[in-house]
Order: sequence, then structure tokens, then C-alpha cells
Amino acid sequence: MPELPEIHNLARQMDTQLREKSISAIEVRQEKCLNLSSEDFERGIIGEIIEAVDAHGKWIRVRMVSGKHLLLNLGMGADLLYHDGEPSTDAFQVRLDLAGPSLTVRFWWFGHVHLVECDEMDRHAMTAVLGPDALDDDFTEERFLVLLEGRRGRIKSFLTNQRHLAGIGNVYIQDILYRTGLHPERKIPTIPEEKRRELYQVMRENLEEAVRLGGLSYEKDLYERPGGVEGFLVGYREDEACPGCGGAIEKIRVGSTASYICSQCQQ
Ligand SMILES: [Zn+2]
Repeated sequence: MPELPEIHNLARQMDTQLREKSISAIEVRQEKCLNLSSEDFERGIIGEIIEAVDAHGKWIRVRMVSGKHLLLNLGMGADLLYHDGEPSTDAFQVRLDLAGPSLTVRFWWFGHVHLVECDEMDRHAMTAVLGPDALDDDFTEERFLVLLEGRRGRIKSFLTNQRHLAGIGNVYIQDILYRTGLHPERKIPTIPEEKRRELYQVMRENLEEAVRLGGLSYEKDLYERPGGVEGFLVGYREDEACPGCGGAIEKIRVGSTASYICSQCQQ
């Protein structure tokens, strides 16, 4: 499932490739991924000119010159591909024609393609509730401390809850907690301020490095190239040796998700 690094990478590539392009046609083969009927969607988007593309957490936001937004969520993953002309693949649920080039989306499971008016953005049920993007320039260490203030829950479920912080899922959280020496079930009130600051720094470094590498090797970018993040320190390495102490990495359940930890190094 794509997380912040993959989504940021796609959004940056789309921003470079799609600015000032206009939407000339659309083909929808899976209407339920839309927030409108196919007819209303088509009527609303044809003729729109793309101004810029960015990301917020796991959402890609395509801002039109008119102020409308096309919001994309890839769900469990998708091939979101740019083609210089006609699509080079017939495998897609949604195709956008850009007066020459085209864009196709093939969801692996299910995703969302929403068209939202400018004045409806703060009422869009799925994005208006998101916490700050974990790599946003304005999301400083001080803001992170404020975010954790007074919280009673456990650190992993807090950081992966998109309403608190947008972008981190069950993949990147593993090494972020390992590198900080925090057990996923550690209660937030027991984490001292120094540790919280360290957690912020590790989180930013980890995500920035993954963006730089183009995301996970089993996900594809806009040009169908795999990312460069190949492996993890403890994530998905059950029974292998911890790189810190040599002890065995364990797989445990935390809530409804799996966690990979070294019980020696993560308290
Ligand atoms: Zn260890």
C-alpha cells in the first residue's frame, strides 16, 4: 500500500508533467470510485486546466486553474501512469485525456477519484479530517510536540491514524519506531520530551530518504519505474537478526496490524 513517500513522489512527477495541460476527455469504467455520477463528473472536468499538483498524506491533489480539485486516493495501490499519447495499456478504471498525452489509473483493489469544487474542499469528508502532512514544511518539531501533548493512546496507533498525522501507514512506521527505540505499544504519556524530539527527527529523515529514493521497490512511479527502497531494518524481517543487538526480530500484533520489533532495543 502506498504511503507518503510513494504519493509525494507521484505528485511531484505529476506536477512537472501536467501543469497547464487541459482535460479534453475522460473514460470511467468504475463509477463507484467517483464522488459524482459519471455524467456530472465528465461535465465538471472537461475543459479544466491543471494549475499544480501536490500531496497531503496519502492523497494526491490536482488543483485546477478554476479552483476545482481532482483528489486521488490509490487505496491499496494502483498503477497511476502517464502516457505521451494514447495509453500504452488497456488496464485501467479511469483514463484522462490531456489533449495529446493521457493519464490512466488502475487500482489494485479500490481507490477514489473525486472532483471537488473550491468552496467544498473544507467539507470533503475524506480529506478535511486529515491531520498535518508528516513532511509538510510547516509541520515543525514544535508542532509535533503540541500534537502529542495530552494524548493518552499508544504511539503506533496514534502516528498511523490519518486524522492525527497524514502519510504514515504500517510499512514506514516499523523502522521509524525501531530507530527511535520505541515499542509500538508504548503509551504516549511515558515518552519523555527528548524522545519525542528524536522521534520527530527520525520520522522526517526516514520519510525524506524514502522520497529521495522514489518510494518502495514494489510500487511504481508515474513512468512505471520501481522505487529504490529495497529493505527495512526490522520491518518484515521476522526471525532475522536485529541490526543493533543481534537478537531475533519478532512479529507481534498491535491492534489489527502486524508490528516487527526487537524487544531488546524497543522499550
Ligand atoms: Zn535489537
